[in-house]
Amino acid sequence: MNLSDNALKVLEKRYLGKDEAGVVRENPEQMFRRIADAIASSNSQSSEREFLAEEYYRFMASLDFLPNSPTIMNAGRPLGQLSACFVLPVGDSMPEIFDTVKATALIHQTGGGTGFSFSRLRPKGAVVRSTGGQASGPVSFMKVINASTDAIKQGGTRRGANMGILRVDHPDILEFIDCKMDLTQVTNFNISVAITDVFMQAVKEDGEYDLIAPHNGEVVGRLRAREVFDKIAHNAWANGEPGLFFIDTANRANPTPSRWTYEATNPCGEQVLGPYESCNLGSINLERHVRSSATGKPEVDWERLGRSVYLAVRFLDNVVDANRFPIPELAAVNQGTRRIGLGIMGFARLLMRLEIPYDSEEGLEMAEKVMSFIRDEAERTSQDLAKVHGPFPYYEGIGTRKRNSHLLTIAPTGTISMIADTSSGCEPEFSIIWYKNVMDGTHLPYTLEMFEIVARREGFWSDGLAEKIVQNHGSCRGLSEVPEKWQKVFATAHDIAPRWHVRMQAAFQKYIDAAVSKTINLPQEATVEDVEDAYLLSFELGCKGITVYRDGSRHNQVLNLGTNA
Ligand code: ADP
Repeated sequence: MNLSDNALKVLEKRYLGKDEAGVVRENPEQMFRRIADAIASSNSQSSEREFLAEEYYRFMASLDFLPNSPTIMNAGRPLGQLSACFVLPVGDSMPEIFDTVKATALIHQTGGGTGFSFSRLRPKGAVVRSTGGQASGPVSFMKVINASTDAIKQGGTRRGANMGILRVDHPDILEFIDCKMDLTQVTNFNISVAITDVFMQAVKEDGEYDLIAPHNGEVVGRLRAREVFDKIAHNAWANGEPGLFFIDTANRANPTPSRWTYEATNPCGEQVLGPYESCNLGSINLERHVRSSATGKPEVDWERLGRSVYLAVRFLDNVVDANRFPIPELAAVNQGTRRIGLGIMGFARLLMRLEIPYDSEEGLEMAEKVMSFIRDEAERTSQDLAKVHGPFPYYEGIGTRKRNSHLLTIAPTGTISMIADTSSGCEPEFSIIWYKNVMDGTHLPYTLEMFEIVARREGFWSDGLAEKIVQNHGSCRGLSEVPEKWQKVFATAHDIAPRWHVRMQAAFQKYIDAAVSKTINLPQEATVEDVEDAYLLSFELGCKGITVYRDGSRHNQVLNLGTNA
């Protein structure tokens, strides 16, 4: 098997089976067999089970495709919980809140991430009838979940991830927007503001909008939209949070509106989910779907990609049935929507192989071409499954009759892209040379092999070039010894202007029924207005949310550039 040293380290640390003394007792082949057998066992016919088990094994062992971390960790094992993404409801009463705290703990134990909307909680200071006291408000309950998350380290290795969301028209919105300005607070949460169309209209017109108490529907105040917009942008400029969640855009794409209105997303934003809904993800490695054309030029291997999409949808649909959940509500809703999240990784590497710059019209066109192709193949497969097994039980007649309410997403692929040794999700490379802060402070060096190969072939490689790139923010742009064509092709996240990042996210979103996890990188010298420009563009282009990150604005970056590692 073709696993890199970095991949082996990641697998040993967290995924391969260990005995009670902590000694690794499983090799990668056995791990992929374990997953393939467990997932294929959802099929009722034994011939199909055996055939698919073999296909799934090869699919993963070749690194053409990997499922999300919980599937790798838990398939064929006692926990059996296979999904990465959850949303839990937060009701406006003590029993409901603490039921959710408990469900959160059980999900975190299995490696899943949880998202919450706190928008239904009465504001701070509102009267609590049963006690005659005053409510403590959404932010205080976020702190409860945060503390409980601290106490449970998932599977003994990773800390839980949460998303906290509050509607922009909730009376406590200003406190919420500031709740992470103190970097020691609610550290186990990402936060996003649920932005309404009414609010965006008020921003455009420089008008005011109403604050509404959710427990009784009373208008309790008004705010100037631009002031709130500026405050969000300022905080995001200062430390990357909050993000925006375009809640009305998301609900326009809701195939089950009589079940629920969407209020929240999972921790990284790629899944907008109903209450107790979950999603199991898997990502196709695009870098492995390139071939040499007759003229020797690299091109997308469409035939192989089509086959991969088919197999991935079969795999993920089987995961729905193989999945085991810690509370019954989760199992019921999962069977109701049969939602799956097929995505990609290695997109930036694909572009490099095809010699297309990420920040170019051609780059956007390739994104659309690849994603529309994947969408068509995935829909066909899910429709065929529906012909045999029926559509997902919550199907309301909206959209095509298929087996799964949702099919497509783009996950961050933070860990699985390391196992596959490719670029993550739809993100550009962070740099040509970098150190990745993996777990427990371990730094693994990473050099983009493709760059070195091209540089040697084209004759611009020199011993000093690597060092120059490290000194140049990990980028080769602007280095005179690198020909202009290759400066463009080997684009890094910082070379790419924020508008290109947004346009790329929107290009993928066009063909995706769930959402896209993407960071809009801004240079250190970017202004608050630059953040606002990115917000407005992403809203206009139909994104479901946006997260910005200004270089250097937070100390403990997950990805460190070569220069400061
Ligand atoms: P992976 O590469 O490990 O499969 P991703 O980076 O693609 O995972 O993240 C997918 C989703 O998994 C996230 O959006 C989030 O819901 C969940 N997730 C990621 N990291 C964690 C974590 N440390 N704890 C819990 N859930 C997580």
